[in-house]
Amino acid sequence: MKQIKLLWEHQEKQHELTKTLKSLKQIKEDDKLENVQVELKQLEYDLITNKTQLEMKKIEIERSERKLKIINDNLGQTTQRLYSGDITDSKELIEIHKEEERLREQCDLIEEEIYLNLEKIDAYDEIIKLKQKEYTRSSENVSFLHREHIDQTTKLKEKCKELRTKLQQLNSKIEPDFIKKYNAISKMKHRAVVKVKNKSCTGCHMNIPLSTISRLKKDEVVCYCDNCGRILLYSKEPE
Ligand SMILES: [Zn+2]
Repeated sequence: MKQIKLLWEHQEKQHELTKTLKSLKQIKEDDKLENVQVELKQLEYDLITNKTQLEMKKIEIERSERKLKIINDNLGQTTQRLYSGDITDSKELIEIHKEEERLREQCDLIEEEIYLNLEKIDAYDEIIKLKQKEYTRSSENVSFLHREHIDQTTKLKEKCKELRTKLQQLNSKIEPDFIKKYNAISKMKHRAVVKVKNKSCTGCHMNIPLSTISRLKKDEVVCYCDNCGRILLYSKEPE
């Protein structure tokens, strides 16, 4: 019975379509790509933050250097006044001397500040280099997974399209009543059409009466398994 063979083919294609749709859904739900994308965004954010922090330190150093220059100039003038010999009043000399000391302390503090900021800049440089490497690696990984995701999705969608076309073609060749019966059995059983192997139904594994087998061999009629009600397909392949 040619119709049963078509129905069998229909069933196989239908199952293949279900499986393909399931794979597509799994790919869509797979959060591997999403996770690495989030990771990349975080790295990007960290890099921007570190670069900003580094720039801030550079600005702080520039500011300190300007301040240092002014204080150094003041110090130079104060020292000059102190040793010029123009000032003879001892009280005034003590005051100028105190001022000189105060300015020197300020210079030391600012130099220390600059030194610490230079060290911080070195540390940020190192962090940025490491993060940059990590970012490049992560970015390549995202591109790879993204390409893979698109490739897989495209392939599966094409497969679905092919299967749907094939199913439509098969549908047009199968008698509508037969499809109705098939659909009714499909609602209850995973497979509505099953092969007969070793003289038994491959759906429920019960033996098939010889009379049914001989009717199936004649290839003329539609036979159902007495036990499970599935449509039987006699396979001519060696058992
Ligand atoms: Zn059966």
